[in-house]
Amino acid sequence: MNLDKLVRSNILAMKPYSSARDEYAGDGEIFLDANENPFETGLNRYPDPYQRKLKAKIASLKNVQTNQLFLGNGSDEAIDLILRIFCEPSTDEIIILDPTYGMYQVSAAIQNVAVRKVPLTPNFELSADSVLSAVGSGTKVIFICTPNNPSGNDLDHDEIKKIISEFPGIVVIDEAYIDFTCAESFTQSLEEFANLIVLQTFSKAWGMAALRLGMAFASPEIIRYFNKVKAPYNLNVLAQKEALIRLEEAPEVRQMADELKHARILLEQQLKSLPIVKGVFPSAANFLLVRFENSNAIFDYMISREIIVRDRSKALHCQDCLRITVGTEEENKRLLQALNSFKV
Ligand code: PMP
Repeated sequence: MNLDKLVRSNILAMKPYSSARDEYAGDGEIFLDANENPFETGLNRYPDPYQRKLKAKIASLKNVQTNQLFLGNGSDEAIDLILRIFCEPSTDEIIILDPTYGMYQVSAAIQNVAVRKVPLTPNFELSADSVLSAVGSGTKVIFICTPNNPSGNDLDHDEIKKIISEFPGIVVIDEAYIDFTCAESFTQSLEEFANLIVLQTFSKAWGMAALRLGMAFASPEIIRYFNKVKAPYNLNVLAQKEALIRLEEAPEVRQMADELKHARILLEQQLKSLPIVKGVFPSAANFLLVRFENSNAIFDYMISREIIVRDRSKALHCQDCLRITVGTEEENKRLLQALNSFKV
């Protein structure tokens, strides 16, 4: 793979912004190079633009090298950067699966990049052949989300590997829900595939959605382009510090994720026993896609009971489906009570 052929020509040619902390990252006594306020407020200095301390910790936790890691303001930032690095507006295209997470299409629309949608099967399974046959001359990036949102299922790894091996562009595997599944992460396949980018986030199992911290894992060559295009100080110092503290809690996070996995299994059984439920799709994430007799009526009824779920009924293969996040034991109990009291 020739990465320079995949990167947009203007991104290849441009000279990135060089911040004060790019030009001098060492120690000093007096810093008069960044037009900061010299009075100590706890926040008066710009943060490390490359988040070195945080990256060292995350890289060791995830068993990758620090130069294989980009940190963003949520993984949504990484999605946006991928579009901006690789896709020429009004010329290039991306492929997404249908249904899937909505931001790939939105980020593409912002960049004026066309989207080809390849339908998953009605059971939300992936066929490598149908993805590969949708590839056109302008297809630069294929986005694959596993476990998939909104269906919740793991996509077949052999099919995914076939796509990564045969597609001559970038394949993004979005593993936002990886901590809830038994499936292996693709972060350990980076050496094998030069065209692979894996996304993960601290917003789900780690319980830090408000912090806005996402990860992209890729070859050092690809990560260099992320750094070239990102805003100079894209992660604020509070997020960096807080994440360093919370990373110490990895065992508790594992426990929390396991608890949610068990709660999901229980909730699935309980939902299946309700007469208004037509089916619950198998999930490897922290949510369930549930098919009802009449999802609109149930969605409105749940709002009247002040329980908010996500209406996915307009998505492909999701007719009459609501997406329900696994909550605490008490929340799940109240959800079931409310569904039980729904009168057809
Ligand atoms: N990918 C998927 C599949 C998601 O479901 C989400 C959030 N719902 C994201 C990425 C974005 O996560 P973040 O909070 O890290 O921006």
